[in-house]
Amino acid sequence: MHPSTATIKQCAFLHLRKPSVTSTICNEYKDVLDSWPDSKHQLPLVYSPKYNITFFGIEKLHPFDSAKFGKIVQALQTQCSIKSSQFVTPKEADLQMLSDVHTETYLNKILHSSWTVAQVTELAPLVSLPNWLLQWRVISPMRHHVLPHQISPMRYHVGGTMAAAGLAMEYGWAINLGGGMHHAYSSAGMGWCPFDDIYLAVRKLRKVSGGEVKRVLYIDLDAHQGNGVERDKLSHKDEDLIILDVFNAGIFPKDYEANPAINIAVELRSGVSGNSYLQHLEEALTKAGQDFGQPDLVFYNAGTDVLTGDPLGRMDVDVQSVMKRDEMVWRHALEVARAPIVMVLSGGYSKNSAAVVTDSIRNLMEKFDLLSKGCGQQSHVT
Ligand SMILES: [Zn+2]
Repeated sequence: MHPSTATIKQCAFLHLRKPSVTSTICNEYKDVLDSWPDSKHQLPLVYSPKYNITFFGIEKLHPFDSAKFGKIVQALQTQCSIKSSQFVTPKEADLQMLSDVHTETYLNKILHSSWTVAQVTELAPLVSLPNWLLQWRVISPMRHHVLPHQISPMRYHVGGTMAAAGLAMEYGWAINLGGGMHHAYSSAGMGWCPFDDIYLAVRKLRKVSGGEVKRVLYIDLDAHQGNGVERDKLSHKDEDLIILDVFNAGIFPKDYEANPAINIAVELRSGVSGNSYLQHLEEALTKAGQDFGQPDLVFYNAGTDVLTGDPLGRMDVDVQSVMKRDEMVWRHALEVARAPIVMVLSGGYSKNSAAVVTDSIRNLMEKFDLLSKGCGQQSHVT
């Protein structure tokens, strides 16, 4: 018998990976990963069960479905035949890691003040609860021995985004099935965002890659203007962080001080349709290609609060258009930027948010052969 000559498709993003960086950074991610994953068996899908926030029902006072991350993972396992062992589990970001971007004063407040946690999560009833309880259930869950300085699920999301950025160097792509806290900046948090996981991840990757990753194209398509990353970019005078932001200008946060940080701003109105939204996005991506060439990394904030019926995003973008949107960004990374892509989920407050995220990731997997040889699947060529 001749060995099988069947051609196993290879994920096109594998050609964009940076092996030289990967070989040097594996050991630099021990702070957020117990071990660097084996690409023959694991996928660059980052998730921890600790992402999900449950707070005796109080969390339901906010439209954010704080358990949606687990729903997405379950659906991906069922619909895409992904085994639980193929996901990469991050560790939580510790105080030292957070202090790379956040001030000591702010970290003290978010880690010790119930009022600050209530303000950031927009859950007023939390003000009356002891801070150790909030740290445990909101900022650092499932701990049996809770210390006041340990604030939670949110810290796992940060660890996940940092890990995903590193993994994109190995696979050419990576998704944190959480993260995207784009309203937080060095000295403040707001809108369910206590920490700027995106800028923390960018800074870490730049540092450990020895300069090979410098210029980053950050594409923020969450419905809200992403003011936190912008403010941190301004305070660091970071010209190598190129920001493309498409957002509803009529809703929170209306942060005019953050605007100068956005290189390509597309300000839309409430009720914008899927067709119009995609047209604006296409023009913005074309401009990014023309004006900023080929970055070293594409960082994609894929908020799904643009969906029709989302109570906070107030746009009218249908499910098919959201899937098309994600595909357009990934294609831009592959064919125009020619750079690895890391995606975070960010906002999404409609009841179908988890299902739409799952459908879109499944679509990306099919369109770009993300589950093919070298990406968590053993080669069957004999
Ligand atoms: Zn949002």
